[in-house]
Amino acid sequence: MQQYKINLKENKKQILGILNTLSKSIYSPKKIEKILRIYPSKDGLYSKGALYRAYIKLKTELKLNKESEENLYKNIKMKNIRSSSGVTPVTVLTKPFPCPGKCIFCPNDIRMPKSYLSDEPGAQRAESNLFDPYLQTHNRIAALKNIGHPVDKIELIILGGTWSSYPLTYQIWFVKECFRALNEFETSTKDMIKTNTENPINLKGVKEIDGEKMEKSYNQVISLALNRQKQLKEQATWKELENAHLKNITAKQKCVGLVIETRPDEINKEEVLRLRKLGATKIQIGIQSLNDKVLKLNKRGHNCAKTAEAFKLLRAAGFKIQGHYMPNLYGSTSAKDISDYKKLFSNLAFKPDELKVYPCSLIESAELMHYYKRGLWKPYTEKELLKILVNTYKDTPRYCRINRMIRDIPSTDIVVGNKKTNFRQMVDEEMKKNQIKVVEMRHREIRNEKIENPKIKVTTYKTTHTTEKFLEFVTDTDKIIGFLRLSLPKNPKNKITAELNNCAIIREVHVYGQSLGIGKLSNKNAQHTGFGKKLIKKAEEISKKEGYERLAVISAIGTREYYKKLGYELVEMYQVKPRI
Ligand code: SF4
Repeated sequence: MQQYKINLKENKKQILGILNTLSKSIYSPKKIEKILRIYPSKDGLYSKGALYRAYIKLKTELKLNKESEENLYKNIKMKNIRSSSGVTPVTVLTKPFPCPGKCIFCPNDIRMPKSYLSDEPGAQRAESNLFDPYLQTHNRIAALKNIGHPVDKIELIILGGTWSSYPLTYQIWFVKECFRALNEFETSTKDMIKTNTENPINLKGVKEIDGEKMEKSYNQVISLALNRQKQLKEQATWKELENAHLKNITAKQKCVGLVIETRPDEINKEEVLRLRKLGATKIQIGIQSLNDKVLKLNKRGHNCAKTAEAFKLLRAAGFKIQGHYMPNLYGSTSAKDISDYKKLFSNLAFKPDELKVYPCSLIESAELMHYYKRGLWKPYTEKELLKILVNTYKDTPRYCRINRMIRDIPSTDIVVGNKKTNFRQMVDEEMKKNQIKVVEMRHREIRNEKIENPKIKVTTYKTTHTTEKFLEFVTDTDKIIGFLRLSLPKNPKNKITAELNNCAIIREVHVYGQSLGIGKLSNKNAQHTGFGKKLIKKAEEISKKEGYERLAVISAIGTREYYKKLGYELVEMYQVKPRI
């Protein structure tokens, strides 16, 4: 098992030994593994990511010269998986803030935005940057660049609590600062920036929340800490954000996707418009369950009808929708979870484009501790969990991508239940053993395989208010080279905004291949052999044949120039081809 987290207090000597050895020369993967085996942790070998994080902390102590530092970086550079889907994701977290949700399974770590844990790797990065969006974005790009990732096409992912409940001025400021970091990266220092800002949350004297006693809620504690702030400095205007957006159109580090996470019951027409105005292209929402009784038992605060409404509005506005789904909730059973998951795709109201499937884990600070202690809830056995997750893949259609399965929570935080970080691998092995055919997108991505005999395949499926066409360039072995999501609304009058009236909508275009960087051509690479343009052309043909006058695209700020060259004009918040 690879260890993703390093306890620097206990293992400092050992880590310094590894880093020093790896800085001496550039080694083959076999030799690197040999070196790691000389210094194993009690849980197995250290991961390259963990070593990289440790190096950042021990940099001043190690005092490596330039050559040794370069050797070290080359040895701990991770495989190209992170950016192999064409863009490099950069995740940033908002500061701790009260959440309108009262979900019993949600951790209450007061150092973090609601639902995150301070020793998750992404959360640690956010905390060490004091939740400052500029520092988080800049430092993550610098780190990724240092370990060899291309960084000119960035998907910005904003996580943390419930976005829509943060003050609007904070939201605008947060996004503006992320864009400012992208826009300035090329001209500012490309090294990591040390934090010199003030921590937005003063937790001095505040007690940790004990899930069992729950004397004070997360919201009460955070509100108290926030009230100590004299004035909210984190504010910006729409105009300032617009300027940052405009600069990004020609910046070297382009935002080619902006992802924001919120709750279904926070979604209404006005919120959808606000999200779009911020520049968002994809929304992550917590579905958790499609069983109203289970939602109620877990104090989720909304029912399935609300989730259905959120899907309808977001799809009408052309957003990609990533759902979060949670088996093993209080009140459910493994059999119920398996049939509930099927409803995600059989019910016309849902049909998500992407999913994160996180079985419920028991965290000490969550209210679920009460239920566990009283024998009302227990985690599924490994066998039950394996069965559910195998079925999850089996029941996922070809247009949906499971982005994550099993949340990357450090095992020390989990009271009971699965602690294996390689569970997804076990699921894969189980499916292989039972020869289960999987058409889910992630399993079919081309990655570094050779592109042979590409052809377009169109899958049509219905939702409550649209007909969706999923266009894929696939190989003979059904590997996806690229895809496009085309939405054909039943009603020509758009529910959200008049600029989308009489429009078919391209919700996503994505071509796989190692992200080369905009403008860098390679014949071998799927991203730069015209697959995207051919998919758009096909979408135009289909839309025209189906009787639509215009085709709109929910473009990210950094892709506006690309669509402009293809004849798509900027009309308010979308780019539209007037005559197709
Ligand atoms: S809405 Fe999300 S963040 Fe808020 S309590 Fe529920 S799970 Fe936690």
